[in-house]
This record gives sequence, C-alpha cells and structure tokens, in this order.
Amino acid sequence: MANEYKQTMNLPKTKFPMRAALAQREPERLKRWQQNHVYELMLKKNAGKKGKFVLHDGPPYANGPIHLGHAMNKIAKDMINRYKAMQGFETPYVPGWDCHGQPIEHKVEEKLGTEKFNQTSTAEIRELCNEFAVENIDLQRAGFKRLGVLGDWDNPYLTLYHQHDAADIEVFKAMFDKGMVYRGHKPVHWCKHCHTALAEAEIEYGDETSPSIYVRFELTSKPAGLESFDGPVDFVIWTTTPWTIPSDQAVSLKPEAIYTAIEHDGRAEIMLKDLAEKVCGIAGWDCTPVMVGGKPYEVPAETFDHLHYKQPIFDGIEGVALLADYVGTEDGTGIVHNSPGHGVDDYYVCLKEGMDICMPVDDDGRFYTGTEFGTGGPFSGMDTDEANPHIIQFLRDRGMLVAEVKITHSYPHCWRCKHPVLFRATDQWFVSMDKTGLREQALDQVRNHVKWYPAHASNRIGAMVEQRPDWCISRQRNWGVPIPSYTCADCGEKVMNDATLDAVIALFHEKGSDAWFTDAPEDYLGEACVCPKCGGHHLKADRDILDVWWDSGVSWKAVCEYRDELEYPADVYLEGSDQHRGWFQSSLLTSVGANGVAPYKAVVSQGFTLDGQGRKMSKSLGNVIDPNKICDEMGADIVRLWVASVDTSTDVACDHEILARTADAYRRFRNTLRFLLSVLEGQFEPSTDGVAFDDLMPLDKLMLARLTQVQAEVDDAYAAFEFNRAYRTLYDFVVTELSNVYLDALKDRLYCEKSDSLERRSAQTVVAELLSMLMRDLQPILAYTVDEAMEYAPAGCRDNQEYAALLDWYQAPITLEQANEYRPVLEAALELRGVVTKAIEDARAAGTFTKSQQVRVEAVVPAEAYALLTGEYAVDLAEFYIVSEVALAEGDAYAATVEAAHGEACDRCWNYRESTGVHGEHAHICDRCAQALDA
Ligand SMILES: [Zn+2]
Ligand SMILES: [Zn+2]
Ligand SMILES: [Zn+2]
Repeated sequence: MANEYKQTMNLPKTKFPMRAALAQREPERLKRWQQNHVYELMLKKNAGKKGKFVLHDGPPYANGPIHLGHAMNKIAKDMINRYKAMQGFETPYVPGWDCHGQPIEHKVEEKLGTEKFNQTSTAEIRELCNEFAVENIDLQRAGFKRLGVLGDWDNPYLTLYHQHDAADIEVFKAMFDKGMVYRGHKPVHWCKHCHTALAEAEIEYGDETSPSIYVRFELTSKPAGLESFDGPVDFVIWTTTPWTIPSDQAVSLKPEAIYTAIEHDGRAEIMLKDLAEKVCGIAGWDCTPVMVGGKPYEVPAETFDHLHYKQPIFDGIEGVALLADYVGTEDGTGIVHNSPGHGVDDYYVCLKEGMDICMPVDDDGRFYTGTEFGTGGPFSGMDTDEANPHIIQFLRDRGMLVAEVKITHSYPHCWRCKHPVLFRATDQWFVSMDKTGLREQALDQVRNHVKWYPAHASNRIGAMVEQRPDWCISRQRNWGVPIPSYTCADCGEKVMNDATLDAVIALFHEKGSDAWFTDAPEDYLGEACVCPKCGGHHLKADRDILDVWWDSGVSWKAVCEYRDELEYPADVYLEGSDQHRGWFQSSLLTSVGANGVAPYKAVVSQGFTLDGQGRKMSKSLGNVIDPNKICDEMGADIVRLWVASVDTSTDVACDHEILARTADAYRRFRNTLRFLLSVLEGQFEPSTDGVAFDDLMPLDKLMLARLTQVQAEVDDAYAAFEFNRAYRTLYDFVVTELSNVYLDALKDRLYCEKSDSLERRSAQTVVAELLSMLMRDLQPILAYTVDEAMEYAPAGCRDNQEYAALLDWYQAPITLEQANEYRPVLEAALELRGVVTKAIEDARAAGTFTKSQQVRVEAVVPAEAYALLTGEYAVDLAEFYIVSEVALAEGDAYAATVEAAHGEACDRCWNYRESTGVHGEHAHICDRCAQALDA
C-alpha cells in the first residue's frame, strides 16, 4: 500500500553508494591519499601530543610478489598504527626490505647458470643481486600500498643501504670489543649444494630414508672379564651415516648402563644388554651370551672406558671407547660411533679428550684425496651420498658389516635448496652465548622487560635462547655484508682490531660493503694496515659474509637509531611466530650484545596463513589466495576485514568461501554506515542540532550508554592487539543490537517526527554518536570504506577532517561508570523484548496480526525488573518493541500476551495511537503526525 504522506516524511537519503565497488573505487582513493600526503598529515596532526609510537617493520625478503602472509602482516601493522594515531601518538612507519642473502643469490645463479655464475666476479654477482632485490621491492611496495597500508613508502629502509652496511659492522665491533665474537672450529650445519654453513634458523626438519648399518669394531685388547675368551672381541656400533666411518675417532657408551657380550662365530660382540635381543634379531644371530663363570657376561659401561679398537677403514689407526650421556638406549646397539668432525655431540666428547678433530670432507661434500687418515682413503673424491654404498660394501668385504637396514627418520634439510645437510667442522665466526653472559642478559630481557603478545610466546623464545648453541655468524657466500677480518699474507695471522674495524665502518658509510670486494685494504686501512704478529703490511680481506639474520637483526641500529623520526628501543615488533628463532632473536641478541637492552618493548607474533582445510598454500594444491588478485576482484577492505576477523595469534585459514563470508560481513557494516549517514547527511550537524545528554529521550540515553560500553571493549581489544576481538565486538553490536533492535525502533521518530523536534534531534544525536564511533572503530580495519563515508558524514562526526586516517579516537559523552548504571535496565528491557517478540511471532504465525504495530502487549515482569522498567531510567517500551502499547505489571516471571491495539492506524506512520480528534482534511492521522504536518 502506497503511503500518500511519503513526501511529508524525512525518509532516509544519502549519496553514499549502496554498492561498494571497492575494486574500482579504492585505487582512486589511494591516489588521493598519496597526492595529498595523508600519511604525512597523520604524523603532523599528532606531533608534540603524546609522543611517538614506533612500530618497527620487520623486513620481508625481497624475492617475489607478496603473498597472503605478507598481506596479513602489513595490514595488522597498519591497524596498530592507525589505532595509535587516533590515540594521539605520532606513528612514523618506515617499511623495510631484507635484500641480502642466499635466496637472491640463488635466483641470480639460476638466471646465469651455475657454470657462468662460477666464472663471474663477486663484484658483478653483487650488482646483479642488487638489481634483482630492487626490482622485487618495487613489486612488493605496490602490493602493500594497494592494501591501504600507510607509511613512508618513498623512503623505506633497505638492508643494502650504505648506512645499513656500516651499522652491521658497528654492532659487530661493539660485540667484538666486549669479547663475544670468536673464531672457532666446530661442526656446523653445512649445505653442500649451497656451499655454506647454515644457522639453526635456516634448517628445516623432514623425513629422510637413510641406510642404517650395524658394524663390528674389533678391540685391540680384551675387556675385564673376557681375558680368557678365545676369539676376538668387538664393539657393535650403529650408525645412519656410513660416510662418517672413515673419520671415526671414538665410540661412546652410556655411563652406568649394563652391556653384554653375544657369542657369534667365535667372536664376542659387545652391545647394550637391553638391546641385545633386538640387535640379534636384525643380525640373524642366536642371542647367546658369552658365559663367564657359569653366568652371562654382563658388565657396566665403565668396564670399556678408554679401551682401544681398530679404526675400521684405516689400518694402523686406533679409536678409543668413551662414556657419554647422550648415548641413546632405545635404538641401535647402545654404542655410538664418534666422528667429531661431523657431529656436535661427538665433537664435544672428543674435544674433552683433547683429540685432534678429523674432517675429511670439502665444501662440496666430497672426500679429500689421499691414503692417510683424515682423507677419503679408499673413497677419495667421492661425494658423501655417493660414498655410502661403497663404504657399506667395503665393510662387508672385510667382514665387519653385521647388518644393513633402511630407516626413515627426521633429518635436517637446507631451508633454501631442501637438500639434506651435513655436519661439518670448519673455521667459522661465532657469537658466544655464555662467555660474557649474553644468554643470561637476553633471557632477562625476554622474561622481565619485554611484553609478549600472546603472553606464552615469552616461553617459546625463552626456551630457544636458553638452549641455542653459540651463534655461527659466518657464511661462505657473495651477497651480504663481509665479516671484517683480514689474513696476513706474510704469516697467516687473522687480523681484526678497533683500528681496522673503524676504517671498515668509515669505508662502508662512504661506499657501502661493495668496496670490501673492490678496494685494496692498504688504500682504506691506512696505518691500521699492519699485522700485529709479524709487523707485515700485506693484509688480505677475508671472504666470509655475515649471516643474513645479522643484517636484518641490526635494523634497530641502522633504522631505529639512525633515522631521526624513529626511536630505539622500538615500541613494538610484529611478525610471524617463526621469527622467534629468526628476526626477533637476531634483533634481541645483537641489541643485548651491543647495548644490554632488547630492541623492542613489546612483540606481537602471528600464525601462518593456511587454506580452509588447514593446509599450507601452494601452487600445486591450487589453494593459493593471492592478495593482489583479491584486491582487484573484491577490494582491499575485504582482505583487511578478513585479517581483522581471524585470530592472528595462531594459524589462520583463508579460501574463497571464507572470503565470501567476509564480503557478507562487509555488507552488514557498509549498510549500517549507510543507514546512519542517510538520516544525518544534510540534515543534522552535531554542533548546532545536537541534544545534550541530559535532554535525550530515555531510549536514546540507554543506547548511548550501551555504545559507551562497546567502545570501551573495542578500545581494550585494540590496545591488546586482539583485532579479532575488536571485530567480533563491533560485528555483534552492529548486527544483533543496532540493526535488529535499536535502529529499527528509531525509524519511527527519525522518519515521522517533525524535522527539528526534540524527539527527532535526540535520535539523530545518538545516530551521530554511533557514526562517529563506528567510523573511528572501523577505520583501522575498513580504511577505504570509512574514508569514503567521511565524504557524507556531518563535519562534527569527523573532527572536520577529510581523511579517516586523521580522525581522533572516539570519546563518548558519558563515562563508562555512568554508562554502566544503565546496564540493568537495558538487560531487563532486552529480556522482556525476547518474550514479547516471541508472543508477536506466535500471533503472526496464527494469522492474528501482520505487523507488530497492530499489537498491544500485556507484559508481566519480576519485581526487580518492574522497578527498573518503571524507574529513573525507564524507556518507552512501546517504541523500543515497535508496538502500539506495553502495559506492564509485576509478577513472578517474564511473560507477555498480545491483543489488538486500541485506536486506529495512522495513515502516515502506521502506528496505532489513540487520537485526540480530527485533523482537518487528514482524517486518519495521529496527533504526532498532525503536528509534523502542520510544520
Ligand atoms: Zn642448500
Ligand atoms: Zn703477519
Ligand atoms: Zn502517525
């Protein structure tokens, strides 16, 4: 039925489009932000107010287009910065890129082909790497900007800048001077494909099938108790790396464990008693122990301590039996062979014995050529994997192989090329965790001085710092910042001291680290170009570079300290949880190492982005969500809303179905903003039309109180970096409270009351507050949409600002304490509303009524609720429930019955009100509408 009074009503009207068309409109808006320097304006607005809030950007690796994980990371950072900027903090955000390192060098190697790569000079390779990094930075930068992330995109930090190179060495010098940096010979993870040592953080564990062999090592003397045994006595050892047998130097037994001797083929085979049956099963032996004095031979491990055996490959060489706690008693034989050049445990056990460490494998993973112990011997020149079957055959031919099986076990792999890695003892540079108390200090910072989000992350990084070995900081690559050490060409001495370090720092500030590879040391070292040992002046620059984690790790120095607009320590770092062993840790160790303090006051960690079924995204599974594509198809605000909607503190899921649901949620927010704008735009200005809190209609006061509570909750969530809690609170408020309850109830007053009546102005005042609040609360999430809404919002709802990023945080007109006084009456009104709605729905289902306005309610409520609903904060329940009248009575429990409304329906507002008389030509009009028509 058409309403003939439509023209006389204030029906909603706004130019804010219903259709978002984000994909088309966002790029235009972004252009305007850039042209009008919105980021700079945001900083200016807060200059000198509350001080700075520095979120220091962790640099993504510049080797490909952005993925969803990047998008989540940058959007979360932008949400924090936008929130803090509204709070009045100056929020300089300097995005960065990690430019050095193996992945880029690897791409260049791929492009050139390995042969050409190996013939190319270091300087040229570095130039190509530089080019590659810069190209990718441009690609990523465009993607990040499109997501609506505000920052100093024109002046980012790059780890390849001269200043960054110099900072690398400045921090190195500070730690070197304190005595933390040392050169050591130690087994480190080594990738023979990438020709480099790898840090713990560059290792991935994955299943690997290896040959598992049982080998007899013949003792050179009889152990106590077996003096009268006729045949030879053997240790039966077990290993999964046959290629380490040529460098075998010892075997380890478990202290205090009981060992037995199995008799086989006239030999006594020593093994752990508890594993004897299992080993015999594998070997195909009868498990018959050697009998001594009528009893099986059973002795503690100590019996064999420091007995010798024949090295199985090299004749005339002997190994020694040792005791070591790390020996396992679950697998194998309880006797482990030691190759200290190829294992960390082995290394320490043999080091304690003062043994020279043998390491017969070169950088490519091939055995050195020779016949002596310390070379490959019969396996000279072979690759370690290639040598495995030859070594097994050699042992078999010599009658030493007891058994061979295959096992699948977790094994370390190179993070880059995915090949299994070796342990290899080489000369490397290390940062000592304990010599000068670095570990202890770092742990104190982690546990007592840094705030972790989520809180349990403190345990995670704490355990890692507690257990980590010394930090191996040297890499044998081209693309990085060199370790500033020299070798004396005259006497071979390693040269590094304050004078050389200062010269290198000055050189890098001026020319960058490329100069290390092009300039002659005597040209820039000056008087420092001298060997302290022999007095010679021929220093050769060494070729190792720093671990790339060092590079990004010192950004607190190169960026936070060096850039005037930033501060050190930073307020917060935010990255993926894998950075507990990566950037969070390298930043911590370098900052604590150099200055004794953590580089951050707080750390937020996030999970990984997975597909809807919890799988990793990969091209082969076809489940990759490309953020650039989503921006082009759905809009950046959909990506942003998705980030806000998930619990980023743990792994999060995303697929097209989830994004479709996100788009639905988006429409709910957009429609609500649109409705609020439609009753304000061009009709209401808070400064001239607003109603003071005390003069508001009771229902409006109630709503304002509720809004104040919601605001406090949202504020709390943002402050704790719990974006999904902010999102959930806002979503529930908008969908279940505003749309379904309050805004519906307001429509009558907004549409039908006289334009400037107190009743309508009161409603508009609250709507304006809602708009003010939602724009600010949603701005960190829906950066583009709120910016769009700003164009249509009354000036007083937007601080007279043009851009959403320039808003100040919402201040409710009443305090939270005041607001909380309304909670009981709101709860009672909502409780009764549920009962009334049910009664109306039943009546509607029965065909008694079609509209709630046709209904009159007889309601019963308990005494306490009755007091509230008729007391100081009582509201017009008929308006609240959109019925003609609510008659309230006291009773035992909530109950409601409905009957036909009294009076007749008003032709204009469709409410049933008892009318005082006839209003001229308007026969069927209520008193209120008559007044509105008069005006
Ligand atoms: Zn590798
Ligand atoms: Zn010298
Ligand atoms: Zn009416």
